[in-house]
Amino acid sequence: LAPPWSGTDATAWTNRFAALGPDFFTELNAAGLPDPHWVATSPDCAALLGWPQDWWQQPGALAVFSGNARHAGMRPLASVYSGHQFGAWAGQLGDGRALWVGELGTPNGPMELQLKGAGPTPYSRRGDGRAVLRSSIREFLCSEAMAGLGIPTTRALCITGSTALPVRRETLETSAVVTRVAPSFLRFGHFEHFAHHGLPAQLRTLFDFFVQHYAPECADAPQPVTAVLAKVAGQTAELIAQWQAVGFMHGVMNTDNMSMLGLTLDYGPFGFMDGFDPGHICNHSDHQGRYAFARQPQIGFWNLHALAQALLPLMPNADTDAEAAGDDLLEALEVYRERFGQAMLSAMRAKLGLLADTDAAAEDGVLVDDWLRLLSAHRTDYTIAHRRLAAFRADLAIDDPAQSTIRDLFLDRAAFDAWAQRYAARLNAEPADASVTRAARMNAVNPAVVLRNHLAETAIQRAQAGDFSEVERLLAVLRHPFDEPARAADADFPPDWAQQLEVSCSS
Ligand code: AMP
Ligand code: MG
Ligand code: MG
Repeated sequence: LAPPWSGTDATAWTNRFAALGPDFFTELNAAGLPDPHWVATSPDCAALLGWPQDWWQQPGALAVFSGNARHAGMRPLASVYSGHQFGAWAGQLGDGRALWVGELGTPNGPMELQLKGAGPTPYSRRGDGRAVLRSSIREFLCSEAMAGLGIPTTRALCITGSTALPVRRETLETSAVVTRVAPSFLRFGHFEHFAHHGLPAQLRTLFDFFVQHYAPECADAPQPVTAVLAKVAGQTAELIAQWQAVGFMHGVMNTDNMSMLGLTLDYGPFGFMDGFDPGHICNHSDHQGRYAFARQPQIGFWNLHALAQALLPLMPNADTDAEAAGDDLLEALEVYRERFGQAMLSAMRAKLGLLADTDAAAEDGVLVDDWLRLLSAHRTDYTIAHRRLAAFRADLAIDDPAQSTIRDLFLDRAAFDAWAQRYAARLNAEPADASVTRAARMNAVNPAVVLRNHLAETAIQRAQAGDFSEVERLLAVLRHPFDEPARAADADFPPDWAQQLEVSCSS
């Protein structure tokens, strides 16, 4: 098969993970989609790979990305991992439907490609190895939306679909394959797997592989294991701070869905906050609310403890002084608290248009908390409130008609006014020229458009009827989330019918 894009040949496939050997994966071929068609492609993800924009029109591309043909140099495999799901040890999981097809040298470094939904693997358990069009569109759009927001994430290159392969979920749906791209798909669960199954040699091999390729600076640290843990803790803290700041809920923060690179990974029943409710549970299957919005930072920390536990056998004193080894790992985890606090405060300062280098900044944490409390008390739309706050004028009276853009969002004007009084005082304590750039600074961090469930749902319903133009249109909007969209409804309050939408683990 000829390469479906120019300039890429078999030698460009580096496939470093595939060199680890059969303890880490099972090699197998994709089970392709019958009679596949294109659903969507991401121009930005193609650019990341260094591919031309028309790559998908090249001969053979549809066959490769629907799992029906193998590109020269691809090494399809399903990796084995384990994990904690909803707080309980779940044992062996693994790539049940995300087939790793290879690692490619690109202008942005080595990138791994996965075909999600390309058939069963030895790790599929009771699953069919398939992905439905609905969840594939959600993963595709959200991956690229997060990238547009500047939030670390795995990427999505394309979706192929087939109407000839019905799959059963609650109802009969059609199947699709999403191609995902990331520097590495390693999860906390990969390390947990070898630790919990008593395979220290494999755990060591995987750790060394990770350090060599993804954390080379840790190799020279006095203690590489704690250095790696601290690095992952810091990246995870920064990721989750960005989720909280934008109002993103992952929905299934099991340890097998936690990226070793601090990327948002495995988009399922995710959601973006509409009316602000810290207790919001976006995943209909999460009955206890373990992964509710406000719990995400704590869960990130819990998950890192699970990773620390998995790394314990790698500590040189694990056998002679397990308590000291454990203490060292716990100390490395402290990076999380510190980094999360810093990242969260600096993200919220930016959202409120506050500069940090003034004396008045000492109280910013309280001002931010009270702002969020105000939003929560009024269930104010999270995205719209931050976007409109850019129009607030510290040089005008709070009840000036010019303030109505933001003020009218709050039924209880007095509550808003009390907070806004303090906000105005804080803004007025900044250097005079700060007000000139404030609205632009705020609009560069407070998106106008996020992938609300109802936006995705409309694109999904049209796609299920064979019209993919809304997926394409929405992708184009989500690539530039800080711009006012051409269609005002994309940035508007969700319609009433959006409240009936439920997303669950079914995908
Ligand atoms: P998730 O909670 O979606 O991240 O999935 C947890 C585990 O179930 C992973 O190991 C997946 O590979 C596997 N899985 C989920 N859906 C399917 C499916 N339809 N077929 C096979 N495996 C699946
Ligand atoms: Mg998963
Ligand atoms: Mg999933």
